[in-house]
Amino acid sequence: MKSKQRVRDDVLERKCHRCGEWLWIEEFVKSKQCAGGRRPVCKACRCEQKREWRLAKIDLYKATERGRRKRLYWSNPERSRRIGRISRAKYLTKSRARGLPRHNERDEFGRFRKVAA
Ligand SMILES: [Zn+2]
Repeated sequence: MKSKQRVRDDVLERKCHRCGEWLWIEEFVKSKQCAGGRRPVCKACRCEQKREWRLAKIDLYKATERGRRKRLYWSNPERSRRIGRISRAKYLTKSRARGLPRHNERDEFGRFRKVAA
């Protein structure tokens, strides 16, 4: 049976699906869905893969959602800022009413704490 993993010199290794190298298991990102509990490509390859995907999709992003939002903002910056202020204020009132902590309200241990409504 062809295996993706092997033990050599007491070191658990895994074969990278992309560069084909046998690397120490810690060079692979953990993933519960993947065979062996790790991603099939090593960390270095994954970085490269992501960069390639980004470059391939950058024009797509520009033409679609991201571009749309930027165009919307710059078509009327003052209006967009005003809407932002209003929705932030609304969010604050709502979260206050539900007793949720504000992003800047942490206790002495740096944890978020509930504030009295
Ligand atoms: Zn690799």
